[in-house]
Amino acid sequence: MTTTSSFFVDGAYVSGQGTGIVEVISPATGERAGAIPEATAADVDAAVAAARAAQPAWAATNVWERAALCHRIGDELAKRVDELARLQTLEQGKPLAESVADIEEAAKLFHLHAEDAVRLHGETLPSTDSSKRMFTYHRPVGTWGIITPWNFPLLMLAEFVAPGLATGNAHVVKPPENTPLTVLAAMEAFIAAGVPAGLVNVVPGGGATGEALVTHAGIDAIGFIGSSATGARIQKMAGLKRSVMECSGNGPVVVLADADLAAAARAAVDGAYLCAGQVCCATERVIVHADVHDAFVAEVLRAAETVVLGDPFDAAVNLGPLNNEGVAAKMDRHMADARERGAKILLGGARRADAPTGLYYEFTVVDEVPEDSLLSREESFGPVVPIITGRDDDDLLRIANDDALGLQGAVFTKDMTKAFRFMEEMAVGQVIVNDSNSWWDVNMPFGGAGGRGTGWGRIGGKWTLLDMTDTRTGVISL
Ligand code: NAD
Repeated sequence: MTTTSSFFVDGAYVSGQGTGIVEVISPATGERAGAIPEATAADVDAAVAAARAAQPAWAATNVWERAALCHRIGDELAKRVDELARLQTLEQGKPLAESVADIEEAAKLFHLHAEDAVRLHGETLPSTDSSKRMFTYHRPVGTWGIITPWNFPLLMLAEFVAPGLATGNAHVVKPPENTPLTVLAAMEAFIAAGVPAGLVNVVPGGGATGEALVTHAGIDAIGFIGSSATGARIQKMAGLKRSVMECSGNGPVVVLADADLAAAARAAVDGAYLCAGQVCCATERVIVHADVHDAFVAEVLRAAETVVLGDPFDAAVNLGPLNNEGVAAKMDRHMADARERGAKILLGGARRADAPTGLYYEFTVVDEVPEDSLLSREESFGPVVPIITGRDDDDLLRIANDDALGLQGAVFTKDMTKAFRFMEEMAVGQVIVNDSNSWWDVNMPFGGAGGRGTGWGRIGGKWTLLDMTDTRTGVISL
């Protein structure tokens, strides 16, 4: 990538039209990590045209060819883990070990979906008419507009592009304007893997670029990962376009009276500092049974001693800075509200004054969090463990479900019957029993509960392949 190359369109780095220069300032060091213009509607046009031109021939290839390409992309990304991880930590701010894990996971997704795609099969269906034979198979939707957030810059691209390529789709990706560098640099791996020109295009920018993409007549479907507020706006603009929407979470972590309290505390803390709490399935609300409240809080404070805030390039550090001023200001608002409402701040609660940027937020533990406080009601997206107390199991479940979102939850108990009750009655897409709410796997269908405010569709395993293809039915009359 050269400094004049801002976008990746039709298989090459190009400078495009671009308006203004958006400086990418490292949240870790305050240095200028790069400068990329925002793609204009004309840049989006060029990318969509390239994608549409490339897609039919790609859809016509056989699945083994598509799988082989995905495996090559996975291999090429794996060769670049160190380089891409360093760049991601510089622009995103998360500890280097986390960036390494992200890039490795992105590579793994290309291998996983290569293998899923060759096993994606249709069905033969019995007909009421004995002269008919009905069967289904899966066809690519066409050209996808992919809009991604800044918390996992490359991984979120891979979550759509790997299953999309494996099933014969083309893609125009819009990463956020503040973390476009890792995604752009990763296109070197795509070139080395031999991705046909036009199948993957990258046009960074903010909301205006995103709107140009969503409303473009040449975009058949939208893959969105970001906040529920933006997701709702996009949905209005997208009309009847097909979509997969992966939005915000307010992860309840429920600790029952019989839980292993040390394990629950460890998991609650881990889920709050991973990526500085900027994860859709982070620990957002810890709801603990009153009988074990005091012992649990003591365990949380013990586990919190292992959190080291500092330079994300330092191997001893496991909590880096927040990514941007918007999330830091939200944490400030949530903490001010918690103080006003009488919550008890047991640890942290402020930005660190002596840090290289104003984005280093102390690891924070807050007890006696009122249910109507911002910490409880909204996704905080910061390194905070907010503790809410419930009277009994029914009350714990009520608090967990009294929420506008519903992405992923966790429950800690040794009782299998109780574990199943929470697994089945918590209004979320996934329930983790006895581990961090911030746990996921590439082969798990990750996504929100239907009817809540966190979107639809599934990321992971064969489910994204199904979401990114149409079920085509053939009927043969004999
Ligand atoms: P965001 O909604 O602010 O931005 C997401 C993307 O949407 C960015 O690329 C942004 O430029 C773009 N965008 C903004 N306005 C737009 C518009 N009007 N039209 C089209 N595109 C527009 O979210 P964020 O702050 O980047 O990310 C954090 C959020 O993402 C959190 O709420 C988090 O929970 C969520 N998230 C969800 C998942 C999941 O799998 N459910 C995964 C990661 C992050």
